[in-house]
Amino acid sequence: MTDTPPASLAEHLRRRIAAKGPLSLAEFMGEALVHPTLGYYVTRDPLGARGDFITAPEVSQMFGEMIGLWAAVQWQAMGSPDPVRLVELGPGRGTLMADALHAARLVPGFTAAARIHLVEISPALRARQRETLAARAQDVPVEWHDWFGDVAEGPLLVLANEFFDALPIRQFVRTPGGWRERLVDAAADGRFVFAYTDPCRPVVPPSWDDVLGEVPEDGIVEVSPLAAAIAEMIGERIAAAGGAALIVDYGHPRSAPGDTLQAVRDHAPDDPLAQPGEADLTAHVDFAQLAHAGVRGGARAVGPVGQGAFLKQLGIDARAAALMQNAAPDVARDIKLAHHRLVSPDAMGALFKVLAFVHPEMAAPPGFADGE
Ligand code: SAH
Repeated sequence: MTDTPPASLAEHLRRRIAAKGPLSLAEFMGEALVHPTLGYYVTRDPLGARGDFITAPEVSQMFGEMIGLWAAVQWQAMGSPDPVRLVELGPGRGTLMADALHAARLVPGFTAAARIHLVEISPALRARQRETLAARAQDVPVEWHDWFGDVAEGPLLVLANEFFDALPIRQFVRTPGGWRERLVDAAADGRFVFAYTDPCRPVVPPSWDDVLGEVPEDGIVEVSPLAAAIAEMIGERIAAAGGAALIVDYGHPRSAPGDTLQAVRDHAPDDPLAQPGEADLTAHVDFAQLAHAGVRGGARAVGPVGQGAFLKQLGIDARAAALMQNAAPDVARDIKLAHHRLVSPDAMGALFKVLAFVHPEMAAPPGFADGE
């Protein structure tokens, strides 16, 4: 072992494995994404056409606008509390928040009551968010936090787009000899390889109760303890002080077996173990697990519904038509393409889903007419 700081995240992980043995997949993923100096998100802004991936708020202003209106209408349904904490988890470049605040100005009093809380671990992205909001929403006070639990108490609205897919997962595999947890080890040549624990009991949340027995041999069960802990805490905050949350991400409505760990670099899939710290690592969100956790915290869960259906109920078709009417032909074509990308089932409209938490005494929020 050496005392010099590791030159790369891969080197840091190799040293940890040499000292302590194989890592759980959650440890590997957590270090790869948010290690305090070498993590993927900490060292760069990965978003946009020239980054590694693009997200709905970066596709079009319409996405953030619909969510801003949702938040403002929900605020009125809560009795217009002043102040209200408008919390965003993993705000990226701050685009969603800026577009949301812009649209929410249509609802009198909302932006005057709003206190913005951005939960963001990356200094690089915090700087980007500060720039975006300084340019577009100077009048609304903003605070940053590393952790949702640090947001002050009180009535709140929580927004999260493509945040939960970035949280570490554990994987359990059903092998002929029983369940084993998947680990990450370092081979003699330094490459990272999967390894497995001795037979163990999979640690799964209640959303798996009826499913675990049905998992076929070699089937993989994914759980995210961190995602569940945050969802439960959101549920507790909503139950205690009133509020709502909107979680948008790609994933499945029910807990089901499958290996969804994926790496993306430069808009293309990559081997998840090949370049820790250099590629985005994500897993599909298990919405049943999140919903259970929020309900355990005390909230009512509504949905998930498809992103396309949600945005259409909030009026994205009319918004696109209005924007196109005043636009030059090439801009109008871009708006049409962006609208298609956000709502169409063969683009983001069906794979991406929207789950809401509300106070148990509140009605289902706008956008969830078909939700359960
Ligand atoms: N919501 C944005 C960005 C999505 S990328 C958009 O839709 O464009 C994921 C975001 O979550 C980034 O801002 C990343 O830095 C942040 N993030 C990832 N893991 C985090 C963690 N554990 N705690 C806080 N923020 C995190």
